[in-house]
Amino acid sequence: MAETVEQIEEILKDAHLPALMCAMVQMTGETDWLRPEWTPTYNPLSRGDTGIPEAEQAKIRKRAAEAIHAHLAGKPLAMPTPPTDVLRRQMDFVAGAPIPEQYVDFLEDELVLKGRSSKEPHFETPELKAAARRLKVLVVGAGMSGLLTGIRLSQAGVPFEIVDKNADVGGTWFENAYPGCRVDNANHMYSYSFEPNHAWPQHFSPQPVLLDYFRGIAAKYDLRKHIRFETLVEQLAWDDTRSVWRCTLKGKDGKTEVVEANAVVTAVGQLNRPRFPDIEGLGTFEGPAFHSAEWRHDVDLKGKRVIVIGTGASAYQFVPEIAPDVAHLTVFQRSPPWALPVPHYHEDVPEGMKWTLEHVPYYDKWYRFQLFWMTTEGFLPMVKSDPKWNGGPGAVSGENAMLREMAIASFAQQLQDRPDLLPKVTPAYPLGGKRAVLDNGVWLAALKRDNVDLVTEKIERITPKGVVTADGREYEADVLIYGTGFQASNFLSFLKVKGRGGRDLHETWGGDARAYLGITHPGFPNLFTIYGPNTNIVVNGSIIFFSECAVRYIVGALKLLAETGAAAMEPKKDVYDEFNRKVDEANAGWAWGSPHVSSWYKNQFGRVSQNWPFGLIDYWRATLAPNPDDYVLEKAKEVA
Ligand code: NAP
Repeated sequence: MAETVEQIEEILKDAHLPALMCAMVQMTGETDWLRPEWTPTYNPLSRGDTGIPEAEQAKIRKRAAEAIHAHLAGKPLAMPTPPTDVLRRQMDFVAGAPIPEQYVDFLEDELVLKGRSSKEPHFETPELKAAARRLKVLVVGAGMSGLLTGIRLSQAGVPFEIVDKNADVGGTWFENAYPGCRVDNANHMYSYSFEPNHAWPQHFSPQPVLLDYFRGIAAKYDLRKHIRFETLVEQLAWDDTRSVWRCTLKGKDGKTEVVEANAVVTAVGQLNRPRFPDIEGLGTFEGPAFHSAEWRHDVDLKGKRVIVIGTGASAYQFVPEIAPDVAHLTVFQRSPPWALPVPHYHEDVPEGMKWTLEHVPYYDKWYRFQLFWMTTEGFLPMVKSDPKWNGGPGAVSGENAMLREMAIASFAQQLQDRPDLLPKVTPAYPLGGKRAVLDNGVWLAALKRDNVDLVTEKIERITPKGVVTADGREYEADVLIYGTGFQASNFLSFLKVKGRGGRDLHETWGGDARAYLGITHPGFPNLFTIYGPNTNIVVNGSIIFFSECAVRYIVGALKLLAETGAAAMEPKKDVYDEFNRKVDEANAGWAWGSPHVSSWYKNQFGRVSQNWPFGLIDYWRATLAPNPDDYVLEKAKEVA
């Protein structure tokens, strides 16, 4: 049954009005939706409020409901492709602030206003299509990035095989099944741009929902037939003569097999090898002891005394879940995380929002762009270091100090009944130094429980009974849980890679992994890494965005091989060196590069080896297509 105007008006109470108004411009062709008195004003720490007065909101809903009703009855969109000046105004309007010019073509692409997205592969001519068919690509990993690579290679007509150590697709969403695990950036942004899900049940959905999404993607694109599960890629060896990678795979039966591929794409993430702390006595604990990424669902925590080591993003999610069940919980904190208030963190997406996403063309795209701007690009200035800043190590600029004060005020407000906890949970390092977690109150509520203690004394050793701290106190427990993160800077640690002339990738890196654009490697032709060195984001953007850019670039590289008839490509060493020099210089200019921060973003040499130090727009632009001038292209050798 079709909705009436009045029903639609009611439904729109759940819609994000600035995104709706941008969509209305395209539906009605009228630009007076973007009038000054309806321009949103956002508070960066209050993500839902648009600042539009309620009386004005009612007028907007009524007018929009009429337009949507007419559209659903068959009236076509009046301006599906707005001219650039209108698009420019829509963009500024939805963000509530002027957005730099350089985002215009990015947005046109995101909204797919030019008929096709830059991310869709196009091998236009029969010659290119035939050349694509002659390639074979091995993809390591069937998680978010590996599935994406499979989709794009299928669309490009390039034969491929995906290999995964796990028994199913999903990668991090398959492995991390700890209680409370959920995505920490909004799902309407944390989804493939070409596969929006208008039915996400929550703004930040739990792990099983994410796993289902990726399983659904594998089914929809018929990817399983390309995947070898429970198989480890152990070694890659470049054959200089034949320009192919010889890839050694080990199945679960222990048997090895060598397969050949013209190119290898690693899609294994940065956070997939658990890290156990370097603490004396590790492994001596008598009871069950496990890492958050290898959660022991067979261990019943009910009524047990539990110790948790670590207070990063994972512990922040599982501690509130397990606290009510256990007899006693001792949380060992080395440094506290910064948390940003996000009251709707655990809330359902209202039904009216889902309806609007589904029925109002372009609303989903504008909503996604608004999230992108508010939580990533628009937020970055607050974590930028001011070289003249002299206000102490707790901040990196005046704006950053203000943000710090706002976050502390939120902690203080929650701890009115337990002011003793405030100094313990307030980080000494600047906000933005590590990935901030999202706060809807459950973390501090858990720490305030009678059965929970937060210990900030340094851990001296682990014993068969529990943990001994530097002050000599022993904390006994039945179960020990490590929320101690991952061996992030140890890129591709499971894989032996022998490049040109038998050169070893890990020896080349010497523990300090680098790449060109995070993707390509001099001396290692046709090796492409997704989410490689220096492509992580701190300010809570979606890593799917990065993977889509990287895969576009990789498919572009394969196209370059097909176009030029080259058999191998690798970045020029001077291009790679200059890129890495710029990356290091730029990383020093952000809160996460501050010498007062120690985190998994920095490797053993103190270099920020994980993070992308520019805007997301810069990665988008840099990865539109490989510049042939950046590469050494090599023709196939004559084989006698
Ligand atoms: P993490 O952020 O690296 O946290 C590890 C925790 O263990 C930190 O509190 C760390 O303290 C502590 N720790 C490490 N070694 C220790 C030692 N020897 N003694 C005492 N404490 C020690 O790891 P994570 O929580 O697993 O998160 C890693 C990343 O995964 C996140 O930054 C995020 O990017 C991602 N993640 C995302 C989600 C999500 O989207 N929902 C959820 C979980 C994780 P220090 O801070 O002092 O080093």
